[in-house]
Amino acid sequence: MLRLAINLYNMRKKSQNRLIAEDYCERFKDEKDYTLAKRIYEENDTFTSLEQARDYVRLTRGHRGDRDKKYATVPKPLNFDTTNTKPKVVNTSAKVLVLDIETAPMMAFVWGMWKQNVYLDQLVNDWFVLTWAAKWLFEDKVYSGKLTSKEAINKDDSRIMKGIWEMLNVADIVITHNGDKFDLPKLNTRFLMCGLNPPMPYQTIDTLKIVKSQFKFSSNKQEFLNISLGTDRKVDTGGFKLWEACYKGEKASLDLMEKYNIGDILSLEANYIKLRPYIKPHPNMGLFVLDGNERCPSCGSNELSENGKDYHTTVNVFEAVRCNNCGAVGRRRKSKLTVSERRNVLSSSPR
Ligand SMILES: [Zn+2]
Repeated sequence: MLRLAINLYNMRKKSQNRLIAEDYCERFKDEKDYTLAKRIYEENDTFTSLEQARDYVRLTRGHRGDRDKKYATVPKPLNFDTTNTKPKVVNTSAKVLVLDIETAPMMAFVWGMWKQNVYLDQLVNDWFVLTWAAKWLFEDKVYSGKLTSKEAINKDDSRIMKGIWEMLNVADIVITHNGDKFDLPKLNTRFLMCGLNPPMPYQTIDTLKIVKSQFKFSSNKQEFLNISLGTDRKVDTGGFKLWEACYKGEKASLDLMEKYNIGDILSLEANYIKLRPYIKPHPNMGLFVLDGNERCPSCGSNELSENGKDYHTTVNVFEAVRCNNCGAVGRRRKSKLTVSERRNVLSSSPR
C-alpha cells in the first residue's frame, strides 16, 4: 500500500513529457536518440520543440553528449597545461590581508514591496557588524570576531571592531570581494563611531571590481566565481533566515555566521590567486622584495621571461615580460629606443 502511494506520488511528480519519453524509449528500444525524438515530437503536441524531445530521450536513456555539456549550468574550468594552477608562494615583506565582514540588515517600516523611499522616522534599527573574518595571504591561521548574543540584541559591535582595526592598521594590501564599496566603508563608519582613528594607509584589491572590468561571468557573486573557477566553496548559509536569527542574538546562528564568514575568506583567497594575473594594475609586489633583482609586480617572483613581444605606449617601446610563477604580464621600465630614435618619434595630435 505504501509502495503504491510512493509510486503514485512519484508519477505525479514526473511531468507528462517525461512519462511519454519513458514510454517511447521502452517501446522503441532500437531507435537512435534523434529518430525517436523526432517520432515523439511529431506524435505528441505537448513537446514544444524537437530539441526538448531529444533532451527527454537523452535524460531517460542516461545518454550524455556534447549537448549536456553545452547546457550545463556553469562551464567547468579547462585544465590546459598553460593554465597556472599552483603558483609558488613568494616571500615578500608585504602584509596582505584577506578580509570579509557580515552585517545585520537594517530594519524599517515600509508601505510596499517595490521601490520604497524609507524616511528616517521609518527606520527601526540601523545595520551593525555581526562578524568579521580575516587572514594573512597564504598563511593558515584565520582570525575572526563575532558578537555575543547580548551584544547582538543590544546591536553593539564596538568590542569586535578593535581586532579588525589592528589588522587593517598594519596591512599593506587588503583583498576583498566588493570591499571598496561595502566592507571597508562600513568598517570605517564603525571605526569613526567608536572613536577610532583611521588605520594607517593600505592599498586595496577588490575582486568584484576585477571581474566586472576584465571578464563577463554570468554572475559576479563570489559563489558563482567559486563554481566557475573550480575553487572551493566552504560553507553555505541557508539564506536570509540566518541573518534574522543572528539579529535576534541566537548563539548557534552567530557561530554559524562566523563559520560562513571564515569560509568566505578562504574562497576569496582561492579566487584571488586565480584572478591575480589579470589584475591591472596589481599593487606592485616588487616594492616589497627589494633585493636588486627584477621582480614580478603581481607576485614578487623573479622568474620572468620574454617572448620577443614589445609593449607600446603612444610614444615609447618597452620589452614585455611574463611571470613564470603567477602568469601575470608586465613590461620593463627602460625604453628600447635610443635617444636619437626617441627624438624622431612624433605624437599624434589629439585634436
Ligand atoms: Zn608573478
